[in-house]
Amino acid sequence: MILRMTAIGALALAAPLHAQEMTDAQRSEVTELWEPVPEVIEAPADAPPSDAIVLFGGESLDAWESVDGGPAEWIVEDGAMRVNRGSGGIRTTESFCDVQLHVEWRSPPNDEGHEGQDRGNSGVFLQERYEVQVLDSYENPTYANGQAGSIYKQHIPLVNASRAPGEWQSYDIIFTAPEFGSDDRVAAPARVTVLHNGVVVQNDAEIQGGTVWIGAPSYAEAHDCAPISLQDHDSDVAYRNIWVRELN
Ligand code: MG
Repeated sequence: MILRMTAIGALALAAPLHAQEMTDAQRSEVTELWEPVPEVIEAPADAPPSDAIVLFGGESLDAWESVDGGPAEWIVEDGAMRVNRGSGGIRTTESFCDVQLHVEWRSPPNDEGHEGQDRGNSGVFLQERYEVQVLDSYENPTYANGQAGSIYKQHIPLVNASRAPGEWQSYDIIFTAPEFGSDDRVAAPARVTVLHNGVVVQNDAEIQGGTVWIGAPSYAEAHDCAPISLQDHDSDVAYRNIWVRELN
């Protein structure tokens, strides 16, 4: 970090003046930091920040591929993309470490007759491993660490901020990737903050390892930056307006 040393500040650090000899303004300058100067970006109300990578803007799946390799086969219509049930999940072609991720999603209004985990299930996987659960959790009881806004099977959301099926909802996710030591064991676990419809539902939660349906999570293997993936869980969940900002 570079401190732009003011004349007064340099003097104060080298040979501090008696406090009485400095004005309040001079004393305040000692602790001013002028560098680094934050990059200027645009943050419009109705569009992604200017330094974001747009992963889905409403028309193209170019930033995505099938998790099994090959092109993403989800359905693009009306400015959104929708799970193509049975085609499998999709992931970004690019890999990411620490990110701010914005995702809008909509659970289908036609999953009536389905309950619990079978209603509007999908998921946002950070680094293809750590799932922020997507589920229709509007008047739909299920295990709390598996409802919308949970870190699946790890952390219960702080509140249920779900909107009714058919309505668009948002996740804003701040993710810190795990770090691994030279022995490939985890040195610093992943951490995540999640806002669901603008409401904090995960506050710097520590992720215990890769998401698993059965058993305890663990950091079974070291990994580098990795794609963001979206789950095909046999429900017509749609996504739109997906963008990411790299934080590292
Ligand atoms: Mg899921």
